Amino acid sequence: MICVVGSINTDLVIEVETIPSPGETIEGRSIARYPGGKGANQAVAAARLGAQVVMLGKLGNDQFGRDLYAGLRESGVDVGSIERAEGPSGLAVISVAESGENAITIVPGANALVDRRYIDEHLDLLVSCDILLLQLEIPLKAVDYLLRALPPGRPRTILDPSPARDISHLLLERIDLLTPNEHELSTVGGSSNIEAGSRFLVSRGVKNVICTAGADGAYLITSDACTHFPASRVKPLDTTAAGDAFNGALAWAWQTRPLSEAIPYACAAGALATTKRGAQPSLPTLGEIETIMKEQVQRESTD
Ligand code: ADP
Repeated sequence: MICVVGSINTDLVIEVETIPSPGETIEGRSIARYPGGKGANQAVAAARLGAQVVMLGKLGNDQFGRDLYAGLRESGVDVGSIERAEGPSGLAVISVAESGENAITIVPGANALVDRRYIDEHLDLLVSCDILLLQLEIPLKAVDYLLRALPPGRPRTILDPSPARDISHLLLERIDLLTPNEHELSTVGGSSNIEAGSRFLVSRGVKNVICTAGADGAYLITSDACTHFPASRVKPLDTTAAGDAFNGALAWAWQTRPLSEAIPYACAAGALATTKRGAQPSLPTLGEIETIMKEQVQRESTD
């Protein structure tokens, strides 16, 4: 079983010609509403592959919150431990310009209320899962408390340090797998050089680092090796949620495989997520992942 402790948001995506400057009023071309939040996206990514997934986090008492709850349940995620709080649910307003540039405002809402009490209440569940998947869209204090509350060894933990924040005070030895992208690595590892930044984190106690590198695939760095995993070949349309697809698939695959065998599934999932618009609608199925992995093996054998 996989437990995800993280954010649950609504994404409002507005298409504009250019991102407005301060003081400017512009007309948007379209608006679309998607379920989002890195925690929820990663939970759905793993559930879509057939994993048993429990989502832990908080929603507000608004209509967005009710819709997000129903959506997660329909995606096969166990929503029984999600708490409903007074006030709004998390919301992200995302303006996307013709050039592909974007500007994002996130209101954490109920996500900001994930605290020690909530973690203590669910600690037995958290300790009983196989893999615990975390991101940084809930208070850093809660992530810090959770890592310290866990017994050594179980569950295995994955932390996606996104959005990038200083994590140097966290109990890094309790992170089995840290999954920054290159930009996040420069914040959490102090260097944008993949090997140098990742090695620094490993020297500080993180067991394994996987640095995701977009169209260049991913790198696994342990105390004794740096291994490159090539990206699947796709025509990207919208890179939103590539990282979420990667982390969800990684958690699913790592349940039953060594990391070196799990990472190709995650790379395939990340690549497939770039071929469709939106976050959760773009998360692939196991069939889609297996097809693209087979194509890759065939290509490598004929190259
Ligand atoms: P994030 O979305 O967090 O910035 P990345 O852009 O590094 O993360 O994407 C996560 C993973 O998704 C990558 O490691 C890679 O395997 C896959 N991926 C992302 N973009 C592409 C792409 N253009 N082509 C192929 N695979 C991609």
